[in-house]
Amino acid sequence: MAVALLVAAGSGERLGSTRPKAFVVLAGRPMLEWSVAALRAAAIEQIVVALPPGEAAPEGCLGVAGGATRSESVRLALAAAPPAEQVVVHDAARPLVRSQHFADALAALAGADAAIAAAPVADTIKEAGPDRTVVRTLDRSRLWAIQTPQAFRRDALERALDVDAATLARATDDAWLVERAGGTVRVVESAPENFKVTTPHDLKVAELLLRERRA
Ligand code: C5P
Repeated sequence: MAVALLVAAGSGERLGSTRPKAFVVLAGRPMLEWSVAALRAAAIEQIVVALPPGEAAPEGCLGVAGGATRSESVRLALAAAPPAEQVVVHDAARPLVRSQHFADALAALAGADAAIAAAPVADTIKEAGPDRTVVRTLDRSRLWAIQTPQAFRRDALERALDVDAATLARATDDAWLVERAGGTVRVVESAPENFKVTTPHDLKVAELLLRERRA
């Protein structure tokens, strides 16, 4: 049995909305409700939501106050989670997630500490110095753009999150914390469609795609 941690406590400054990002209405539902529906479709019923101030968790979910950084929100949600050996972390800012992404991440956890959704990289990626001179071109066939869901063995995630606030603040995903603790992290192929809503442009694209899904 897996428990889900849905992180929704960000303010979403880059979106320029008056509501916190996860609560902006998208194709008729607050953004985080799309992820809740996908989790339930994957038969993951125990959902802990990290919330921004003044917002309530969706019906049937357990709400906790989020933290100052994303990983802090994950840590607080995990501390409130009911017993379960597997934990799946998901950004409420990825409303296009499919129930299959959750199922695939959990299935890939066998023999690993973490299994994370990732899309193959379509662009060529180059590293440049501070003066914008290219230093190297990376081998694209080995590169993955990391998303959520990220599934974890609970004990591995608890150990990984047991670090100081500065390290937590540096983590742009939780799997990095498992990597630096020496854990095994596996990538699971997902689709670029499962993008993170960050800008007003992303919001428009997500609205169109989710409306199509509803129709
Ligand atoms: O800021 P960003 O878009 O990368 O955030 C990714 C996810 O983490 C969002 O769903 C956001 O609500 C959540 N988050 C959080 N607590 C924070 C910052 C972000 O739950 N302090």
